[in-house]
Amino acid sequence: MSFSLQNCRVESLQSALGLPIDVLRLDLIHPVVSGNKWFKLKEHIKAAIAENKTVILTLAGAYSNHMVATAAASKTEGFKSIGVIRGEEPERWSPTLQTAKEFGMQLFFVSRTDYRLKKIPVEVYDQHVPSEIFEIPEGGYGLLGKIGATDILQFFDTSSYTHIISAVGTGTTLAGLTEAVKPSQKIIGVPVLKNAFSLQKEIEDLLQAEKQNCFQLINDYHFGGYAKYTQELLSFMNSFYKATKVPTDFVYTAKAFYAALDGFKKGIFTKGDKILLIHTGGLQGNSSLPKGTLIFG
Ligand SMILES: *Cc1c(COP(=O)(O)O)cnc(C)c1O
Repeated sequence: MSFSLQNCRVESLQSALGLPIDVLRLDLIHPVVSGNKWFKLKEHIKAAIAENKTVILTLAGAYSNHMVATAAASKTEGFKSIGVIRGEEPERWSPTLQTAKEFGMQLFFVSRTDYRLKKIPVEVYDQHVPSEIFEIPEGGYGLLGKIGATDILQFFDTSSYTHIISAVGTGTTLAGLTEAVKPSQKIIGVPVLKNAFSLQKEIEDLLQAEKQNCFQLINDYHFGGYAKYTQELLSFMNSFYKATKVPTDFVYTAKAFYAALDGFKKGIFTKGDKILLIHTGGLQGNSSLPKGTLIFG
C-alpha cells in the first residue's frame, strides 16, 4: 500500500514524564489509515489483488476506525468499498461515516440482530456479484490482520524494551505484537471494551501454541466501555499532550497510555523497566467530542 512509514518514529518521553517510556508514533503514517489499521489492512489488500477482486466489503460500527481506514485504503488501491454498518441509519451521520462516504464507501445500515448474524444485506448484490467481493472480517479481526501486525516491530529496533503496551479492540494487533517479540519481552494489552470475556481466547486463537501465554490483558481501564469516557480521561489526554506534545484518542490510545502511567504509580512498572507505548492512531475518533474539549485538534 502506498502509505509511507517514513513519518513514523520512536519518541522518548523520559524528560517530559520523568519515566522510562518511549512511544512508537504509528499515528503519523496517515491521518485516516493511521497506526495499526494500515498494518492490519495490508495483507488483506494483497490477498484481494491476488484474487482479482474489485470490491472490498467490511462490517463495522458507526464510529469504527477500521471502517474508515478500509474506505481510504480501498480508494488508494483502486477498489470500490462497501461498509455494512451496525444499527439503523442515524439521523445525523457521525464524522466517521461522513469521512468513509467521502472516500467512496457505499454504506448499508443493518439491524443489530442482522449484524450479529453477519448478514450481508441483499441490496449489496443488486450491484455486485459475490465473486468480485473480498470480505474483511468485522474490525479486521483474523490471521491476515495479525500477519500484517507482526511487521509493526520490524521497522524499528525495539529489542531493548522490557514491556510493550497497546490498546486492544479485537486483539488482532496484540496477537501480531506477541508473535514478533523476544521471549523476554512482555506484551501488555489494554482492552477498551467492558466485559470482554471472550477476548483472551480470541487472541489465543490467532497465536501459535507456544505464544499463547506470552501476552497479558489488563482489564481495568475501559472507562465505562467502548467509546465511553470520563472527565478524568479527557483531563488525562490534555495533560499528557501538554507534557509530551503527543495527541491521543479517547477510544483507544488514551486508555492504554493512562494504564501505563498508572502502572508506575501502582508499582507494576519500575524505573528499571523500559516501556514502549504503541500509538495505534485513531485520532479521527476525537471529532465526535464536543468542540473545545481537547487542547489539541
Ligand atoms: C482499531 C484500533 C485498535 C485496536 O486494534 P485491534 O487489532 O482491533 O485490537 C487500537 N487502537 C486504535 C487507535 C485503533 O483504531
